[in-house]
Amino acid sequence: MHYPYIEINLDKIEHNAKVITTLCAQHGIKVAGVTKVTCGSPRVARALLRGGVAQVADSRVENIKRIKDDAIRAETILLRIPMKSEIEQAVELADISLNSELKIIDMLSEASIKRGKIHRIILMVDLGDLREGVLPDEVVPTVKKIKNIKGVNLIGIGTNLSCYGGVIPSHSNMSKLVELAEQVENELSKPLEIISGGNTSSLALVERNEMPKKINHLRIGEGILLGRETIERKPITNTYQDAFTLKAEVIELKDKPSIPYGERGQDTFGEKKEIVDTGIGKRAILGVGREDILLDGIVPLVKGTEILGASSDHLIIDVTNSSVPVQLGDGIPFSLSYGALLSSMTSSYVSKNWLMEKTVKKSDVIKIVGFPLSFGLNAKGTEQTPAVIREQGFKKKLESLGFTVEDMGDITVDENKIKNLSTIQQAAHASNLMADVIQKIIEQGQFPLVVGGDQIATLGIIIGAARVISELGLIWFDAHGDFNTMETTVTGDITGMPLAALSGFGVPELINDHGMFPKISAESIVLVGVRDLDDQEKVNLHKSKVTVFTMEEIDKYGMREVMSRAINIASAGTRGVHLSLDMDVLDDREVPGVRLPVKGGITYREAHLAMELIADARILTSLDIVEIVPSKDDNYRTIKLASELVCSVLGKKIFEK
Ligand code: MG
Repeated sequence: MHYPYIEINLDKIEHNAKVITTLCAQHGIKVAGVTKVTCGSPRVARALLRGGVAQVADSRVENIKRIKDDAIRAETILLRIPMKSEIEQAVELADISLNSELKIIDMLSEASIKRGKIHRIILMVDLGDLREGVLPDEVVPTVKKIKNIKGVNLIGIGTNLSCYGGVIPSHSNMSKLVELAEQVENELSKPLEIISGGNTSSLALVERNEMPKKINHLRIGEGILLGRETIERKPITNTYQDAFTLKAEVIELKDKPSIPYGERGQDTFGEKKEIVDTGIGKRAILGVGREDILLDGIVPLVKGTEILGASSDHLIIDVTNSSVPVQLGDGIPFSLSYGALLSSMTSSYVSKNWLMEKTVKKSDVIKIVGFPLSFGLNAKGTEQTPAVIREQGFKKKLESLGFTVEDMGDITVDENKIKNLSTIQQAAHASNLMADVIQKIIEQGQFPLVVGGDQIATLGIIIGAARVISELGLIWFDAHGDFNTMETTVTGDITGMPLAALSGFGVPELINDHGMFPKISAESIVLVGVRDLDDQEKVNLHKSKVTVFTMEEIDKYGMREVMSRAINIASAGTRGVHLSLDMDVLDDREVPGVRLPVKGGITYREAHLAMELIADARILTSLDIVEIVPSKDDNYRTIKLASELVCSVLGKKIFEK
């Protein structure tokens, strides 16, 4: 990871969210988790949702778009009053928005009616902080007007405190909000769904059991992300304050006097500061500066170190009394204020290092599952592969690597049961059978290795794996994009759609699984080796957050660099990674027995190198090999190569060193 970087611990964010949503639930309060300081990061949104937040809230439509683009299906709230210029997007993307201007509500109404939608709104009330909101006397007159506006539904009222005026939430101002809510309910002759009592600064009232009963909603960002209340920035009980840590590298380390020598004028930023003479001390210069982040809000986490000053690109710290020895090249950790966090998350100079504990450990037990099924239009023949690969001694090869290998047999479908179903329904049925098998294998701490069939096999694997592994990365090797939808497909072949479905595009029936949707964040998916895309498929891929490495990039940067990036993307902030190996990713000369051969693919050695790099990264939690047609194969060349690549990715070395 390139310094400076910010380490983001998603487990700690999830833990903090659990603590705060549990506390609030005890007082009848739902929490909207606020992602704005992380620029609407889907990874953070997912951690918040796992931690129990009811909705995801953000100030910016572009951040809400980022969340929706990741196919996160949670309700979204736009926190900042929509700008005239973003009304259309606000209605399109946000389920609920906070409002205080009738003109804007009129525009929201118009945009909603145009779309045949009802946009839900919360009316903001200013209770003294003097940021957004109508004044208390204007609440009922405003509601009288809103209730006649079509296309919008007033579902609640809310307030915001402590942001501009620093006004502290109290029993008294919250009671005022409740009183106004009751007047609004009288006016509307219906109960309000949401009475939103503010942000993190209101949590103290909840903790002290002083929040009036009728307040049923809060919008929490800093309290969850930094584990601090916002009146005095004290830690919240049982939460982590270090879910975010900045690390910057020591680029110079020398003993120097504390007082500059020579005639002194202003520094880079026009200041002339007083410096106390403390004699000669050890000073470290770190490669981070004001161009990177807001340095006023950072505090060194190494005891005995102190910030002396900073310029655009340098931070000087005194390490004379450091509790740990400091060396050139070390990464020095800092905690961050909300402002420093905001500036580091928006800074393109600060890398982001997503952390999540890998709960699934490397297993010595491999379970082979055959998927002798094909759903593609011209996929017939792929269903022979599990039988043929077994005949070729696949199990023995794996056992020779030191694994205990159990063959679980094949996924079979009852032909009578599925004969009246559409192809999509048949594929979904097979995927559910596969998902149950994969779930059990992973729950037992073992490694599933699936042999297809066509690549529809991967859908069931991901559905099953995602039931056990809460955040999963995916590396998908393929000559094709498999990113079509029913609207974009040229052939109607559903084997051209599985990756799109997994990324939240297109045919949801293929992956819907008891309401769990989507299975995987598009930001954790990497597609490698592509060289044959339909025009509309390209459009879909551009819209998605899936990372694509085409053959051109493999040629340009080399397989080592491409895999290093792919592994980083799939493993960042995930608990495990699935590898799907469509054998047509290889050059057609290497794989005569694939269903859809394409020229110009990866070479034999590139394929092995890619597998070895994945093995070294120790990230895999499941694996499939798919799309081989044994009847087209030449002397089992494709089957043999597939077995070799599986051995390679499971750690077989030419020579152990
Ligand atoms: Mg494919």
